[in-house]
Amino acid sequence: MNEASTIEPAETDEVDEAAFVARIEAFHEGRCRRRGDVDSDGDSSDHPDGTDPDGVAAARRYQTALADAGLAGLSYPSKYGGAGLTQRHQEIFTRTAAIWHRPDGPLSISHGMCLPMLNQYGTHDQKMAHMADAISGRIVWCQMFSEPGAGSDVAGLSTRAVRDGDEWILDGQKVWTSGAHYCDFGLVVARTDPTMPKHQGLSMFIVDLRNPGVEVRPLVQISGARGFNEVFFDEVRIPATNLLGEVNQGWNLAVSMLMFERVSIGAGGGAFNAKRNPDLIQLAQDLERSKEPVVRQALADLYIREEIKDYVAQRIRSAVAAGRVPGPEGSIAKLTGALVARRTRDAAMAILGTAGQAFGDGPAAERARRWSEFCISAAGVSIAGGTDEVQRNIIGERVLGLPKEPDPHRGAAWQDVPRN
Ligand SMILES: Cc1cc2nc3c(=O)[nH]c(=O)nc-3n(C[C@H](O)[C@H](O)[C@H](O)COP(=O)(O)OP(=O)(O)OC[C@H]3O[C@@H](n4cnc5c(N)ncnc54)[C@H](O)[C@@H]3O)c2cc1C
Repeated sequence: MNEASTIEPAETDEVDEAAFVARIEAFHEGRCRRRGDVDSDGDSSDHPDGTDPDGVAAARRYQTALADAGLAGLSYPSKYGGAGLTQRHQEIFTRTAAIWHRPDGPLSISHGMCLPMLNQYGTHDQKMAHMADAISGRIVWCQMFSEPGAGSDVAGLSTRAVRDGDEWILDGQKVWTSGAHYCDFGLVVARTDPTMPKHQGLSMFIVDLRNPGVEVRPLVQISGARGFNEVFFDEVRIPATNLLGEVNQGWNLAVSMLMFERVSIGAGGGAFNAKRNPDLIQLAQDLERSKEPVVRQALADLYIREEIKDYVAQRIRSAVAAGRVPGPEGSIAKLTGALVARRTRDAAMAILGTAGQAFGDGPAAERARRWSEFCISAAGVSIAGGTDEVQRNIIGERVLGLPKEPDPHRGAAWQDVPRN
């Protein structure tokens, strides 16, 4: 049985906010561009999907430097490679660092979802083995839930893990795995008891993606990017010590992880969630469109929505700081983040005009290309981490108290439920 772990208190509760802000600013000044500033290539965007190998290398370098400066893994205990500070420090960091283009988009799942899971559910040995390298970006993690036959209904997944002595043998397929092509480890949910109802026979495992039985095949997106993958497991042997949490308790862990994901997308400080209004204002000024009433109205509307998003995010981060696992408010944050992404897309396209769809060479065209890539991927925010419809179902059931969706197979063994 896994030794259950608790979240340890931070080693210091003292916050000298001004000094801490100054440390964060000193670290970023000269290392990262401020939002709204445009570099010599006309690049004003982030690289959130890890498509570009240089972008992944830059993310790792940034994170390692951050860890060396004592500014990474702020609220994690120092014995596990964290800074041993508080959630309040994390809150200050998120707010202060938001004004820079930080190249850490490719680490957003590793840091926003996998690390919190290791911290919350890992045994002491698992934390000792993995957390420091993940915090410093030397080792990067991905999240492996979705399958060809299980997306919104992720509890119906088919990847199997069968116990064999001191090991588990993993067989099956995942899909849409963001970043698997550059990640070292993954958190995989697999079915460990098909005779139980679908939510009950699942377990979560730490899987080394360098295992020869793991095959990662990149998927090409509409934008030409290769941000996510199909991952195949063929008799992958996993040490029993790589079970995270308890056997057949994987659904509870999966729900926690999805909450971390929704919070990370909707309320985190990552590239998905970055405030893009300063960049849009800059774009409108450069294209001499900032005096047009319709453009100004769109920018003001977006400013208001980004402020609202910030308040929703703050509320959730305060709940996390108070030691509560975020509940349905994670769904509200995710819906808000998805709405802002779509509105930003619409405003950017309105400002760029035809240049958003047809562009040649040169710095201005490069910037248009990057904005158009963002615009094409903005709809994905409404799908990743549970679709908008699924978030509304959660809010309907858990906040408004509406009846659950009918399920004719409720309580039946997973193996007896018809599937595609
Ligand atoms: C950018 C991006 C990154 C991703 N990264 C990862 C990753 O790293 N790891 C991972 O495991 N997965 C990842 N995913 C996959 C993502 O979690 C799934 O795409 C998502 O859960 C939806 O599943 P699906 O695509 O199978 O759609 P389906 O579940 O087939 O849904 C199809 C449509 O039906 C609707 N629908 C389904 N069920 C209901 C319902 N009960 N009520 C109302 N409407 C419903 C949905 O809202 C949707 O519109 C990523 C997806 C995106 C877009």
